[in-house]
Amino acid sequence: MSTITNHLPTAELQALDAAHHMHPFTANDELAKKGARVITRASGIYLTDSEGEEILDAMAGLWCVNIGYGRDELADVAARQMRELPYYNSFFMTTHVPAIALANKIAELAPGDLNHVFFAGGGSEANDTNIRMVRTYWANKGKPEKSVIISRKNAYHGSTVGSGSLGGMAPMHAQGGLPIPDIHHISQPNWWAEGGDATPEAFGLACAQELEEAILELGEDRVAAFIAEPVQGAGGVIVAPDTYWPEIQRICDKYEILLIADEVICGFGRTGNWFGSQTVGIQPHIMTIAKGLSSGYAPIGGSIVCDEVAAVIGQDEFNHGYTYSGHPVAAAVALENLRIIEEEDIVGHVQQVAGPYLKEKWEGLMDHPLVGEAKIVGMMASIALTPDKASRAKFASAPGTVGYVCRDRCFGNNLIMRHVGDRMIISPPLILSPADIDEMIRRIRKSLDEAHQDLIDKDLMKAAS
Ligand SMILES: *Cc1c(COP(=O)(O)O)cnc(C)c1O
Repeated sequence: MSTITNHLPTAELQALDAAHHMHPFTANDELAKKGARVITRASGIYLTDSEGEEILDAMAGLWCVNIGYGRDELADVAARQMRELPYYNSFFMTTHVPAIALANKIAELAPGDLNHVFFAGGGSEANDTNIRMVRTYWANKGKPEKSVIISRKNAYHGSTVGSGSLGGMAPMHAQGGLPIPDIHHISQPNWWAEGGDATPEAFGLACAQELEEAILELGEDRVAAFIAEPVQGAGGVIVAPDTYWPEIQRICDKYEILLIADEVICGFGRTGNWFGSQTVGIQPHIMTIAKGLSSGYAPIGGSIVCDEVAAVIGQDEFNHGYTYSGHPVAAAVALENLRIIEEEDIVGHVQQVAGPYLKEKWEGLMDHPLVGEAKIVGMMASIALTPDKASRAKFASAPGTVGYVCRDRCFGNNLIMRHVGDRMIISPPLILSPADIDEMIRRIRKSLDEAHQDLIDKDLMKAAS
């Protein structure tokens, strides 16, 4: 098999990148001075860069390469589909085999009566679909005033104007005139950072009850839906206390509020079940999917919709769709990805092998002087860095300063681990073996030790007052 290895020298690639390529979520001037790391190939859980370094990817790209890199089956399917039917749409009374097959497969895998799929190019687009769909649902039912969508601070639901408004990231809202009207945010169930003196259980319950307070304040006749990630991902892998989700489900049921689970990260095995909703015990009306749907091999996302919502939306023309909704190549690739997850029992591997082994090792990191709490669900996990565990202290330096020091050490040790503020997070490919986990933990411990020494040297091990 031939591979592409004849690229320009790294410095030239970096100069061209800096000259012409604008990076997402990046201060491009700063990056231009440093030079981006150039990734040239990948296999399994390892990336290779233009200098030939092998990097353990503990983020699975952007939380998406669930089956790992380098699966030829997906490449073969893509090539076959491109030859047979590279593109057609499903707007005007037409359809095609990959979209039919994928929608059927997703309906089979999704719990309850989530039997209908509206395709999008990714998670952001799918959440934009959801905004219009839930508002149109209530309008079709004669209640157009039910248009408010309640979400959570520090949630991530995408980067378009609509999905960015649903999300609760303050730095995103600060740019470009977000949020759109009729989006309301309540607290996130982040006990470590915001729980104060409450127990995790009491704090979880109080956060959920903010939903009820918001509904009563806004008026039940104004609220269309509540959206949340079963486990917050980009916000820092925030795992809600056990009391949280049952109360959320009770409130949505009581007030007839549509529940949207954003499963873009949690879906397709990440939490040890097919969907995060199953792990946290909720039954949503709509699920947002993307990322692990194709393991990132092709861009595709969508909304899985329950019978009732699909029936009401179907009563009239829904003036919404994307050129690439259900793109045949992406759909064929996603279908092959789901076949691999199912036939190789990758969800079972997370639940019974890799998940429990990683949990033991991950929680063992609590013995490190920098680590406060360690949280893990399936194969997504976080640690909170702190100068003082006992008081759950924050660092005196600006939030993210310490996280960045740690991330830099990870980078140096050929380990991709992200920081969100002063939390360190992982979301590795689901195929990790116990030996891979040992190697990953070895690199993490080495990076934490080096970061700890850096912090001491720079006099940064100080608590905020
Ligand atoms: C990544 C992500 C999105 C956005 O998906 P894109 O494919 O980047 O548009 C939405 N929701 C969650 C929970 C995500 O993690």
